[in-house]
Amino acid sequence: MYYSNGNYEAFARPKKPEGIDQKRAWIVGGGLAGMAAAAFLVRDAQMPPANITILEASKVDGGALDGAGNEVTGWLLRGGREMESHFECLWDLYRSVPSLEVDGSVLDEFYWLNKEDPNFSYNRTTRNAGEQGGIDPNFNLGERGIKDLTNLVLALPEDLYDKRINEVVSKRFFKSTFWLYWRTMFAFEEWHSALELKLYVQRFIHDIAGLADFSALKFTRYNQYESLVLPLKRYLQDAGVTFQNDTRVIDVRFEISKDYKQAKTLTWIRGGQQEDVDLTRDDLVFVTNGSLVENSRWGDHHTAPEFDPQIHEGGSWDLWRKIAAQDPSFGNPDNFCTHTEESYWESATITVKDERIRKYIERITKRSTNTGHTVTGGIVTVEDSPWLLSWTVNRQGQFKNQPDNQTVVWFYGLFGDTPGTYVKKPLRECTGQEITKEWLYHLGVPKDEIEELSEEQSVITRPCMMPFITAFFLPRNGTDRPKIVPEGVVNFAFIGQFAETTRDCIFTTEYSVRTGMEAVYQLCNVDRGVPEVFASIYDVRQLFKATSYLRDGKPLPLPRVISKMVEKNEAGLLLAQYGVIKSEGDVPPPSEAVSAKGV
Ligand SMILES: Cc1cc2nc3c(=O)[nH]c(=O)nc-3n(C[C@H](O)[C@H](O)[C@H](O)COP(=O)(O)OP(=O)(O)OC[C@H]3O[C@@H](n4cnc5c(N)ncnc54)[C@H](O)[C@@H]3O)c2cc1C
Repeated sequence: MYYSNGNYEAFARPKKPEGIDQKRAWIVGGGLAGMAAAAFLVRDAQMPPANITILEASKVDGGALDGAGNEVTGWLLRGGREMESHFECLWDLYRSVPSLEVDGSVLDEFYWLNKEDPNFSYNRTTRNAGEQGGIDPNFNLGERGIKDLTNLVLALPEDLYDKRINEVVSKRFFKSTFWLYWRTMFAFEEWHSALELKLYVQRFIHDIAGLADFSALKFTRYNQYESLVLPLKRYLQDAGVTFQNDTRVIDVRFEISKDYKQAKTLTWIRGGQQEDVDLTRDDLVFVTNGSLVENSRWGDHHTAPEFDPQIHEGGSWDLWRKIAAQDPSFGNPDNFCTHTEESYWESATITVKDERIRKYIERITKRSTNTGHTVTGGIVTVEDSPWLLSWTVNRQGQFKNQPDNQTVVWFYGLFGDTPGTYVKKPLRECTGQEITKEWLYHLGVPKDEIEELSEEQSVITRPCMMPFITAFFLPRNGTDRPKIVPEGVVNFAFIGQFAETTRDCIFTTEYSVRTGMEAVYQLCNVDRGVPEVFASIYDVRQLFKATSYLRDGKPLPLPRVISKMVEKNEAGLLLAQYGVIKSEGDVPPPSEAVSAKGV
């Protein structure tokens, strides 16, 4: 397997790998990683689809990419997906998946939608019970905060192994608007991995200009189950791939010698019965190791959700533990699954029925809610909330069957243990109604209206507790995550958020698709480049632009010797065009693909 970029490889079709007709694929986990692996097996490895089986524990496919519920008991979204143009593997996949909405691919649908209805926000924050924070274009990092970020980007990954963010940056950094925007957008805690923060800053350096107002982001039309999972499932089923649901894979046993490591038996439980499959080298096994939504539990309007940190047989953590016990190169699941107090947070889906609440929402969004178009344009963060709560209204209806008079709001809080401002209880102990009260308070609803508007005739709130939601952000070293195909393995791959690949960052749909693609290309010898992670960190234009934004537009004082070197030449012109140095006279805007402003 190798990486590539550019059109030549992007548009090329790989030749059919030798011997592929004799091979079979067993894919454990019907989330995005597993379904993507199946799609790349069909399209690029050209494996006969009848030879491919997806083994999924749940009755429903899509894993974390959910969208469920109904208009009576409330709609259910554990999360919503911020996406961007440079999810290279994801768009490589979805260019081939027919849309269920338009005459074209899912990529076409997404591209047209986001061209016609681009995302941006009018209020990134609020404070003081509904006071609008607008968009602060200044990141307010100060020289110290900028130095922290620069040091992080320059650090060698190994120097950040097992380090927390609060061990490597200053207190000043945590006071910046940059950190407030960044942590709430990506769900970082101060005790999370410094290495992961580094990877994120590098990976999304090209989005820094569109960070404050979210113009860097793109969203699907509906929830991701309907917009991403269903078309992919249809594509796979039409091709002839088998979906075997209600199947909990409980073990994969390996034969390990000094020359090779081969998966020999796969064991699952289905309908209460245990079944074993003997595997040959032609049986390729793809395992989603670890899941961010394992043990997620729903509460309701009158009940707080249960917190279940246990590892259960038949889940992804238990399976990974059994696999990892067989060889050191299979990773260290306990690094991620045994610290749930540091990895949990809670979201809630708020189904608004009352027109009066919609009016309060619209005061902040500055857009009508139920038009089918962008509403908040990304999350709105309540910067003085002890829960550090954020909420968002994506395009309505978020669900195809959602009635016109309902508005679905997604809500989450980064701090689950501190009492709220209005309800005075920690988020994790709150019922849906209590969460609603806290949210209404911060929305600016007068106190004397809150009780009535939080009742079930006005709103249904369903909280969701996710003990492992940021497990992948916990500090780690270079071997805690196994390589996609570990050293010496002949018929097995790890896929998903806990498999190791270069430069990309976790907690994204892209990461799941990338690991699925890399796994298939490696195990099947697909002779086409996997698109490399978008190389903006190696593009001086992007670096110059980011420098200008991180400095809040303040010119960089260059040492005299450097100023002389860039005087009246291309380097000086670029520095001026992207705002790093003050321009002498008129500077033409760049005619390149990388604009000096926004995305
Ligand atoms: C709240 C939230 C917000 C998010 N925000 C964003 C975002 O803004 N942008 C973005 O790009 N991404 C976002 N993501 C991340 C993205 O949704 C996930 O990374 C991705 O969907 C994970 O897919 P996966 O297939 O790797 O794993 P999962 O979705 O976890 O799938 C694993 C599957 O394996 C199954 N399984 C587990 N154990 C077994 C077993 N033993 N046998 C059989 N099956 C098993 C599970 O049932 C599950 O279906 C978010 C996710 C959440 C939850």
